Amino acid sequence: MEVVESISIPSISDGASASGGQTTESKCECGLAPVLRTALTFQNMGRRFWGCPNFLTGKPCKFFHFIPGDKVIEGRVRDLLLRLKDKQLRFQSENERLKKENADLIKENADLMKERADLIKGNDDLMKENAGLLVENGNLLHENGPFRVSSLAVVASLVVSLYLWRLK
Ligand SMILES: [Zn+2]
Repeated sequence: MEVVESISIPSISDGASASGGQTTESKCECGLAPVLRTALTFQNMGRRFWGCPNFLTGKPCKFFHFIPGDKVIEGRVRDLLLRLKDKQLRFQSENERLKKENADLIKENADLMKERADLIKGNDDLMKENAGLLVENGNLLHENGPFRVSSLAVVASLVVSLYLWRLK
């Protein structure tokens, strides 16, 4: 039999009545061996009970038996336990909030990664286009090369002709 000290708060423990005579050998409605927990509710602070192992998982198993003779804790220890219970609840809700925030950040990160991949792809396309333009530019320069040379020859011969003409 597994023994669990639990500061979790069984939601039905306030309403459930202690029933004696239940041995720890019995099985719960799920067919599982019950676990020993400690109630931390305002009404039943400190009372131990046998409960279903799935007690807080939302399963509709009603197995629940207080240990006969267990007394409710009073006084300073009770105050302390109630304060701890409050703290636990606050930590739980903070934890839920952080989990949600974490899920949002993971999603945001995935979006950014996608955006980054798109930008890299866009950059690749531009690089390819640029390479194509460079090749085209090289071809045009090559085509223009002879033309430039022949134009220079024409200009040079004109200059020489003018010079010779002026000498006459
Ligand atoms: Zn059960």
